[in-house]
Amino acid sequence: MLPILFTLISLPYAPEALEPVMSKETIEYHYGKHLQGYVDNLNKLVAGTEYEGMPLEEIVVKAQGGIFNNAGQILNHNLYFTQFAPVSDLTKALTNERMNELTVVKAIVRDFGSLEAFQAEFEQKGVTLFGSGWVWLAADKDGKLVITQEPNAGNPLTKGLKPLLTMDVWEHAYYIDYRNRRAAHLQALWQIINWNEIERRYVCK
Ligand code: MN
Repeated sequence: MLPILFTLISLPYAPEALEPVMSKETIEYHYGKHLQGYVDNLNKLVAGTEYEGMPLEEIVVKAQGGIFNNAGQILNHNLYFTQFAPVSDLTKALTNERMNELTVVKAIVRDFGSLEAFQAEFEQKGVTLFGSGWVWLAADKDGKLVITQEPNAGNPLTKGLKPLLTMDVWEHAYYIDYRNRRAAHLQALWQIINWNEIERRYVCK
């Protein structure tokens, strides 16, 4: 029997907890079937290779082809699903005062002018990414923030940037709840972004 190297992450919320922004059915398919599929594929692909036992972040920087695609999709979805929280929790935890205190929010205001200007540019980059992929907020080594568009399984790690926040623009991310309305989906996701988690990623070394 092959050793199980990669496993499906646990979600930090119940599958229905992000409704109505993200339905239980979307979680069941996107997390339960798509992400599980990437985990199963990667476990088969890395068996007996130099990538067996390697952290996802390292595989994404070193690998090509199927191993890169499946490792990238696992890493991207892990960052994606762990950046959300139920609206009711966020309303309590993220007051305007708390938001304004966050280092990452201060950096957004510094680098994009305002949180609203950043969100508008981020949504625009998500809408104009042709085909499947991911839009990212990432930081360079000096903490300067950039928005990147990455096709398919791309992650800003391959450009030497630290990934902080992401939106998945593969159709499987929004077609159950929003059909073809990608822009409406991206706009709605801000309601469930847990900025305390984005802050943790930004300030950690
Ligand atoms: Mn996805």
